[in-house]
Amino acid sequence: MRGIEIVEFACGIPNLLKTDFTDQISGGIDNWNLRQPLGVAAGVTPFNFPMVVPCWMFVMAAACGNTFVLKPSERTPSASIRLAELFIEAGFPKGVFNVVHGGKAVVDALIEHPDVAAISVVGSTPVAEYIYSESAKRGKRVQALGSAKNHLVVMPDADLDQAVDALIASSYGSAGERCMATSVAVAVGRIGDELIERLAPRVRSLRIGGGMEPDLDMGPLISAAHRAKVLGYIDAGVAAGARLVVDGRGHSVPGHEEGFFLGGSLFDDVKPDMSIYREEIFGTRSSAWCACRISRARLRSSTRTNWRTAYRSLRPTAASARAFSRQIQIGMVGINVPMPVPPAWHSFGGWKTSLFGDHHAYGEEGVRFYTRYKSIMQRWPDSIAKGAEFTMPVAK
Ligand code: NAD
Repeated sequence: MRGIEIVEFACGIPNLLKTDFTDQISGGIDNWNLRQPLGVAAGVTPFNFPMVVPCWMFVMAAACGNTFVLKPSERTPSASIRLAELFIEAGFPKGVFNVVHGGKAVVDALIEHPDVAAISVVGSTPVAEYIYSESAKRGKRVQALGSAKNHLVVMPDADLDQAVDALIASSYGSAGERCMATSVAVAVGRIGDELIERLAPRVRSLRIGGGMEPDLDMGPLISAAHRAKVLGYIDAGVAAGARLVVDGRGHSVPGHEEGFFLGGSLFDDVKPDMSIYREEIFGTRSSAWCACRISRARLRSSTRTNWRTAYRSLRPTAASARAFSRQIQIGMVGINVPMPVPPAWHSFGGWKTSLFGDHHAYGEEGVRFYTRYKSIMQRWPDSIAKGAEFTMPVAK
């Protein structure tokens, strides 16, 4: 749906590309601006969301007048081919949207190619940072979205039923393989014990099975390597002294014994220096997959603040929620919305190591990224005074 929304948003591109015009900034001189395409843009996308993340990029790039080369994840490569077929079927000329498969070598070739003017990347933070710095060195414009560690703050007066529903859905949906997945619940005050008590049976009863089966809560993880990585994090959490309240390590799905399944896991007593807190457990490098609870006092001493967050409070006054959303030093906030993914006409991003570069993805930010701003000033001979002018045009 979000992909379709972006296509619909991009259909209104004339409105977004139109800029401003000032008549008569000086005697007979007008000034206006244009947004012009960059030329060839490229995109590197992650394995999760193989439809919508490419839509963040090629749809906006093409609507702004660029051609686009997409390098999708080698782990979910086929959706981008279907997108390209549909793009051509819809009437776009061949060559406007191109797909090239591969891994690091292909990405490096795009970074090094002199005709590629801009690169968008969505992936893990080390990859986003690498592509950002290598592309920026070569003078390319870059938009590089990385990993996140999403926190959900549960206030002492929150509606616990709602908080538990929000945590279950946002932490364990899509097996935690969403960049917006909640991985940390921050229990404020004494609410933590009851929260854990209520969460544990819900995590144990998650329905897990083959991804094509209906009415399930979680499917398998993306690969055997990712499963091993998540297992490694759970082992590391236990070894570091966190309390594993629900242990999903032994979970097996009948008929799929060799599948990449894990049950839901839940940690309590997590400290900010533990790897299960510091790192995103999501993909081959990290994850949002096992949820953990951390106290507010401990969080304060944490230096890692690469998180988006959701915040819950049913206080009669919204003052604390408002103060939180204004003061928190992160790029995406949800107030009673556990996965605050903006629609096509707003933009999606993050701060710190969740985003390298200046622009968030899609929306007006996408238009700014895929265009260059040009200022044009014009006058005609009949308004030009005689003699050399040694000053800039000023109002007369
Ligand atoms: P990944 O970083 O392994 O791969 C992303 C892309 O980079 C792929 O196309 C891959 O082929 C390429 N790549 C991998 N290693 C590379 C290298 N050394 N040099 C150049 N290119 C390389 O990520 P993933 O496992 O496919 O996806 C999961 C990650 O993406 C998670 O960290 C998740 O948080 C993040 N993600 C972020 C957002 C966001 O909006 N910020 C959205 C979705 C996913």
